Amino acid sequence: MAFYHRAVDASVTPLANILHRGTLALLVGEKIFARGETYFRDGRVQKLTRAKGVLTATVRGTSTYEVRIWASREGVAYKCQCPFGAEGLFCKHAVAVALAWVNAEGNRDNAFQAQLRKLGHAELYAVVDAVAKTEAGKKLVIEALTSIIGS
Ligand SMILES: [Zn+2]
Repeated sequence: MAFYHRAVDASVTPLANILHRGTLALLVGEKIFARGETYFRDGRVQKLTRAKGVLTATVRGTSTYEVRIWASREGVAYKCQCPFGAEGLFCKHAVAVALAWVNAEGNRDNAFQAQLRKLGHAELYAVVDAVAKTEAGKKLVIEALTSIIGS
């Protein structure tokens, strides 16, 4: 039972905070966003991986392009092999990859929550106790309790 580590896993936060559908749409404009979404829905994003804060995937378009996305000081940085991407503009391939990742994260969260719902009181207590072993974890637990029960 190692899944509860995710509750205190801060390594997912930078990209997760930035890459939301709304933020993306604002960032790239409606036209590119719509094209990227179509690419994502058509299943053109493949080999999506995340390592050391960098998302990597290939996108099948006119050619197959490799796309990388990572969090930078300015927000989101990315690289794509297409001509549009070479100009430093957020292209439809990058949008498709970002959406694929947001979607995968959502599925992971749902699976995590489904797992939590199956736990009994003793198991939930053990999970909370394990999370609260560190100062950061204890703070998280107290914050969660405060928001549920009220202060
Ligand atoms: Zn591109």
